[in-house]
Amino acid sequence: MTADSRVDVFERMRSLDETVARLAACAAGETPFQLLSGGTDLVVESHLAPPSSTVRPKRVLLDISSVPELSQIEDRGDMLRLGGGVTYLALRRDPVASRVPLLAAMAKDVGAIQIQARGTLAGNIATASPAADGVCGLFALDAVIGLRSAKGERTIPLVDLYEGYKKSKRRPDELIAWVDVRVPSPTAKWVWRKVGTRLAQAISKVALSAVVEIDDGKISRARFGMASVAPTTSALPSVRALLEGNAPGWIDLAAVERAVDADISPIDDVRSTSAYRRHVAKAITREFVRALSG
Ligand SMILES: Cc1cc2nc3c(=O)[nH]c(=O)nc-3n(C[C@H](O)[C@H](O)[C@H](O)COP(=O)(O)OP(=O)(O)OC[C@H]3O[C@@H](n4cnc5c(N)ncnc54)[C@H](O)[C@@H]3O)c2cc1C
Repeated sequence: MTADSRVDVFERMRSLDETVARLAACAAGETPFQLLSGGTDLVVESHLAPPSSTVRPKRVLLDISSVPELSQIEDRGDMLRLGGGVTYLALRRDPVASRVPLLAAMAKDVGAIQIQARGTLAGNIATASPAADGVCGLFALDAVIGLRSAKGERTIPLVDLYEGYKKSKRRPDELIAWVDVRVPSPTAKWVWRKVGTRLAQAISKVALSAVVEIDDGKISRARFGMASVAPTTSALPSVRALLEGNAPGWIDLAAVERAVDADISPIDDVRSTSAYRRHVAKAITREFVRALSG
């Protein structure tokens, strides 16, 4: 087989219906296919397995970056519907998205402006990296993803999507069409904190997103996302359980640290050590909880 025979076939999709039909046709014909959105993960990964490699068969690349439905941002009152193709730059600039400031704060920390202009939420979710900033931010916003295929539509809370390292419940013929996020109350306290080697163009050593709502002096709702501390993004369930129903000033900060410890299982890798990640994870969560009573 020559290298040329493995050159990818590129098809530009114009609508969601067309994409879903092509996905089904490729799956039925057992043609290798892949969705291409911003390409900031896929192109990099493809370069790791060049055309001459036997690792990578010829694929049909379905370019969905021009599908209009995927780039929409809709205000639905107590929630926003973000198309799967919404870019980080759109999150930073869109007036509707500005109703949830955490989105722009997260988007600002992804790569550099070039990556923000191309990279999309669906691409981040589908890549399923435990270091994904978009996923981490969306965890704190009760995100629910909408999956479309020729078989119909289904929704999955983002916190339930991942089954292990880079493993998700999404079928290959399913497209991430939208992401619904809850709009926190105007008085909600929130944080986005990414700790990396430098401020831009760095994958996180640890990242934290949190949204906490307080009613009648007690925490009525606490949601978290933490990246790069486990095989999948962590929702910090023990921290959440510790906070909800309690008054912010009465929360034992040492108990918060113990809860973080219980919720994470970081590893040593090229970016950081397990010990440093634990230290930072506890420190930034503790700092956020301490500030709740301020
Ligand atoms: C220099 C550089 C810096 C980066 N910095 C960061 C960073 O700071 N933080 C971070 O989190 N990430 C970072 N990334 C990774 C990447 O930019 C993000 O994960 C981005 O969100 C991927 O989106 P995309 O549209 O480019 O995905 P693509 O590369 O187009 O696709 C990625 C995967 O998602 C699938 N896919 C795409 N759209 C859909 C869809 N609608 N439905 C189902 N599957 C789909 C593709 O088939 C592919 O498997 C960086 C990448 C680079 C190259």
